[in-house]
Amino acid sequence: MDPRGFPTSLPEFQRVFPDDAACAKYLEAMRWPDGFTCPKCGLCGAPYRFLTRSSVVLRCRACKVNTSLTAGTVMQGTHTALPTWFWGAYLVTTQTPGQSALQFQRQLGLGRYETAFQILHKLRAGMVNPERDTIGGRYPVEVDECYIGGRTRGEGRGVHHQATVVGAVEVRKRKDAEDRAAQRRDSHEGGIPAKKLVYASRLRLRVVSSLPTRLAMLANPSGAAPRN
Ligand SMILES: [Zn+2]
Repeated sequence: MDPRGFPTSLPEFQRVFPDDAACAKYLEAMRWPDGFTCPKCGLCGAPYRFLTRSSVVLRCRACKVNTSLTAGTVMQGTHTALPTWFWGAYLVTTQTPGQSALQFQRQLGLGRYETAFQILHKLRAGMVNPERDTIGGRYPVEVDECYIGGRTRGEGRGVHHQATVVGAVEVRKRKDAEDRAAQRRDSHEGGIPAKKLVYASRLRLRVVSSLPTRLAMLANPSGAAPRN
């Protein structure tokens, strides 16, 4: 179990978040660890709670102002039920290779592809560390571009929707990698150390639209930060 109580396996997930109420309770505890505080009048204390279709509304007992449980989160204004978001967050944070919106839609049993796409996009954006620093100061950075997308349903032959994505990756060397590899014979394959001496560290990706933007980014790859 994660220190904040978020489950790290499927059986744990089922035990911790069996229904809507469990998800709402967890979310409220995460948002107001010391108990609900009214954003309008600042009063601390147990609010009135009302269930809505997809979330919970908390009403201050003093000034009677309503606060949505999901307001100010990636789930703000959602029509999707909380457990679906929680399942989504679990899938996004536990699956190492990442996943497509189509896979996401199937696994969550969502009727609309657009809903799956939006949830996935919001969860990914929410995972970006707001205090991260730029790369390129301490370690060398390699930059390249690629094209993502292509023919989609309904499009014929010819021009397809493609986005140009520029990536900058920090290249780091393993500490004393050569010495360590040289000490062990079984870590060699035909004289080549089995472990690679360099590895990819932090990564920055950004969709770019025009050639001037691309050229500017190549000149300053450390600023290559993902923006939606
Ligand atoms: Zn209040």
